[in-house]
Amino acid sequence: MLKSAISFRYVKKDPRTATDLAASPHFKSEELVSVASAQTWEDNVRSQGGIQDPWKLALESSGAGVWDWNLRTGIQTYSNRWLEILGYETKEIEHNNLGFVQRVHPEDLAKIRAAFIAHLRGRCDFYTVDFRLLCKDGSWKWVLTRGMVVSRDTRRKALRMIGTHTDITERKQAEENLRKINAEVRENARLLEITLTSISQGIVVFDANHRLQKFNARVCQLLDIPEAWMATLPSAQEIAQFQLRQARQRDDLDWIDPVTLNYLSCTAMGVKVALPETYLRTTASGLTLEVKSQQIASGGTVRTLADVTSYVQVQAHSKRLDALLAATQAIARVGAAEVDYVNGSIFWTEGVYRIFETSPQEFAPTLANSEQFLTLQAAQELRATLANKNNQGYDLELDMVTAKGRPICVHAVASCHWKQGQLVKRTVVLQDITERKKSESLIRQQAYFDALTGLPNRRMLRERLEQEIKKTKRDGQQLAILFIDLDHFKEVNDTLGHDCGDQLLVQAATRIKNCLRECDTLARMGGDEFTVILTELHQANSLGVILQELLRTMGEAFQLGTEQVFISASIGITIYPLDATEVEDLFKNADQALYVAKGSGRNRFSFFTPALQEAAQMRVRLINDLRVGLSEKQFRVVYQPIVELSSGLVHKAEVLIRWPHPTRGLIHPSTFIPIAETSGLIVEIGEWVFAQAMMQVAHWREKLHSEFQISINKSPVQIHHSGGTSWPEQLKARGLAGDCIVVEITEGLLLGSSSSVAEHLLELGDAGMQVSLDDFGTGYSSISYLQKFDIDFIKIDQSFVRHLIPASTDLALCKAMIVMAHELGMKVIAEGVETQEQYDLLVAAGCDYGQGHWFAHPMSASDFEAFVHSR
Ligand code: C2E
Ligand code: CA
Ligand code: CA
Repeated sequence: MLKSAISFRYVKKDPRTATDLAASPHFKSEELVSVASAQTWEDNVRSQGGIQDPWKLALESSGAGVWDWNLRTGIQTYSNRWLEILGYETKEIEHNNLGFVQRVHPEDLAKIRAAFIAHLRGRCDFYTVDFRLLCKDGSWKWVLTRGMVVSRDTRRKALRMIGTHTDITERKQAEENLRKINAEVRENARLLEITLTSISQGIVVFDANHRLQKFNARVCQLLDIPEAWMATLPSAQEIAQFQLRQARQRDDLDWIDPVTLNYLSCTAMGVKVALPETYLRTTASGLTLEVKSQQIASGGTVRTLADVTSYVQVQAHSKRLDALLAATQAIARVGAAEVDYVNGSIFWTEGVYRIFETSPQEFAPTLANSEQFLTLQAAQELRATLANKNNQGYDLELDMVTAKGRPICVHAVASCHWKQGQLVKRTVVLQDITERKKSESLIRQQAYFDALTGLPNRRMLRERLEQEIKKTKRDGQQLAILFIDLDHFKEVNDTLGHDCGDQLLVQAATRIKNCLRECDTLARMGGDEFTVILTELHQANSLGVILQELLRTMGEAFQLGTEQVFISASIGITIYPLDATEVEDLFKNADQALYVAKGSGRNRFSFFTPALQEAAQMRVRLINDLRVGLSEKQFRVVYQPIVELSSGLVHKAEVLIRWPHPTRGLIHPSTFIPIAETSGLIVEIGEWVFAQAMMQVAHWREKLHSEFQISINKSPVQIHHSGGTSWPEQLKARGLAGDCIVVEITEGLLLGSSSSVAEHLLELGDAGMQVSLDDFGTGYSSISYLQKFDIDFIKIDQSFVRHLIPASTDLALCKAMIVMAHELGMKVIAEGVETQEQYDLLVAAGCDYGQGHWFAHPMSASDFEAFVHSR
């Protein structure tokens, strides 16, 4: 059909060969008839009796181009408008089918052919098709062609077709755009659907009447509402009610969304209230949802519900952590800082501001000002530390100053990060340890200083002494250690009270201090004992000067409130390295020297000597030996007659202890009694002596004299010691009269105002026992004491008797003592009578009794009996 349809001659001004036409891929060569001669469209029209000019014009004026196709020749004739659509001049293109086909868009050829064939075969009345044609400028134009066969041969073969070309480019463009838009809309809808189903947030869209328009599955999960129910697109009110029902069932109304409820009820009442853009609510399953509402153009709202449970939890957690950190920083006064040397920034925590008493508003830390709070020394220390590139960190206590200028001590622990020898980062933890340092120093103060006087204590002294010894040794010098003991301090304390005692100690400390030089150390060892370290003793006499000054100043009156008190001091001195080199030995030496100073009458100083040391060692050994001696019954007693001077009769004796030591020979009481006193062993020894005396006096009352008396020495330690059976009771138990025994006490005992002494003496007196005041004249007793206590005898000390010569002071004193004693109703015994002269003088002075070698040495009981009988 096609073959016949186009097998007609086509003649144009610019004719083409049939071969050219045959090159067209769509129209085979045999379908074309070779061109005979060129003919114009007008010729063609005319010759074939075609369309009239007015029609042509009308067509052209509609904007359509007209074409006329001779199917036999293939010649096509185009109207000017046709050419104009594609931008050609008449002569610029070939007016044949081949030229036309070449201009058709390759994709459109098939549909042209289909439309053409459909028309030729009579399936369509018109040949109608739209396709793209190539314009002169290379662009494509959409044209709609409409045509029809206008002449056929006798066999109904189409010979000629006429038609129009309308430019539909714009319409096509519009169609294309619309198509694109539709595709986009579809894609968007698809994307929205994907988004709605895959998004983790729940989404609900309400219309202006609060009716649900759209929702996603997620919202049903979050709110625990069945999807099927939601699919009924309930109103917001219904959703809220649904949830309310759920809450009632679960008996837990807490999680109901109050914001929505409020909004709905307000809206229902016609009250205008805006939904908050964002708010948090909880759900039945314990989720925290962040609800965001947004008004949309239609007047509806879109709400998104995001599960922020973990975020809220994390936030709450971090809030707690922050609070904890802040509290920690405040309590422990810690802070942390990070110094970034690469970008030169410093970051630090709130705690650091607190430590440095500043605030972020007042102080922005930078590399340049980071050392602001360091003292010069601390800054140097820190720089020196950071100069060491091997330093992975540090741990320093730095002296710093706060923004307010308050000095503080900061413990800084840091880690340092180095890169190629460059410090890149430093992280520091700072702690204000000022208070700790203060309390440490307070503890140190308490541990090393005496609370009352503020002087170094024993412990501190020891440390100082160790240092001083080292220094003195290095310098080849000497130092002196002074043990100073206040005399009669105990009496002040006992009579005036502890407050006065404390005052006295403080004043004494000041006085001692004033006698010393800057380099010397004064310490209080406890009680009324002070210790001085005198260093740099190059001038030998400087020591003497200081010692004299010490005694003088301590002898001056102390004003204690309203009371004026006189005391004195005893000082023991030892020299390093002469006497000893070890601290312990030096202390021992000074103590022994002090002991001597005290023993020799107080208010004096005494240097340590090797003999003293020997004695001290002896003392220690003797204490042990005394114990052994007691248990092994090594002690003996001797008796010394006390002779009645007027008659020469002996009915009194003093019992004196003897200690024949198994290895040391006879040890005198003057050696071991003081040791027995300090060790407390005197009590036991005294009891033993008393037992001997009781036995002996019972015997001698029978054998020698019915009123025989034995004097027994009782030391203050024994008197102060309570416990055991009292002597009066023991006498009573043995059926002995009280006056069998005379107790010899020393004056010192009466000095103390202790009531126990008075009671003791009273008890003795009540039992008929007599009391003798031994060593009279050597102590501090005054006549008032003698009056106060019930004393029967005084024993004039040997020191008065020893130098008794006519017209001597001692004689005068002896006479005075005798007269005084007699005046007070007491008898007098003179001790240590060694010569006839002494005896005579004492007799002449009216002395009652005499005791001494001139009469007899102390002797055993049997010798004593023989002595008495021999007279
Ligand atoms: P005291 O109570 O003054 O005893 C007298 C001391 O003088 C005795 O020394 C005695 O031997 C000594 N004596 C006696 N006549 C003369 C003399 O003419 N010339 C000299 N130079 N001395 C004479 P003794 O026995 O060595 O006792 C010394 C001190 O020991 C006693 O001094 C006494 O205080 C104490 N004592 C002795 N026995 C005891 C005792 O059993 N208990 C206590 N608590 N003390 C005792
Ligand atoms: Ca005596
Ligand atoms: Ca005596």
